[in-house]
Amino acid sequence: MSDCCSTKGQVSESSSNELCPSCNVKGKKVKIITLKSMLKPTILGTLNAGLTHYFCSSKDCNVVYYDTDKKTYLKSEIKVSVHQKDNATVVPVCYCFGWTKEKIKKYVENGITPNPVEHIRENINENRCGCEVNNPQGSCCLGNVTSYIKELT
Ligand SMILES: [Zn+2]
Repeated sequence: MSDCCSTKGQVSESSSNELCPSCNVKGKKVKIITLKSMLKPTILGTLNAGLTHYFCSSKDCNVVYYDTDKKTYLKSEIKVSVHQKDNATVVPVCYCFGWTKEKIKKYVENGITPNPVEHIRENINENRCGCEVNNPQGSCCLGNVTSYIKELT
């Protein structure tokens, strides 16, 4: 896309740039290291690393990441399945420590220890989590885990 009409620096532009080009919902800013870790090799070769990138968490949207030039990265272009966009029970909610929907459900419903949330918290306390590179949303999974557990109960 040509940027001859770019209005960079204007407030109106920066706010519309935060919207997913596909579903028009505001995304969450992610660090570039997250895309570097998540994009498939051929796609990584097209990354504009100098731009700001956003994560789209809309369930029915095929776009996972987009940048301020509205370049999009689709579900099929990243290495893992995205929790927010995939109902399969084998998809992780906590990517760092392998808590899939299936496993969380089993532990919670049967009261098996460790409780997923406590297990994750413990590992966070030991500074073992690596959400920036393991989780496609690029940030802590704990909120997703607790809301998934809430859905179950
Ligand atoms: Zn979207």
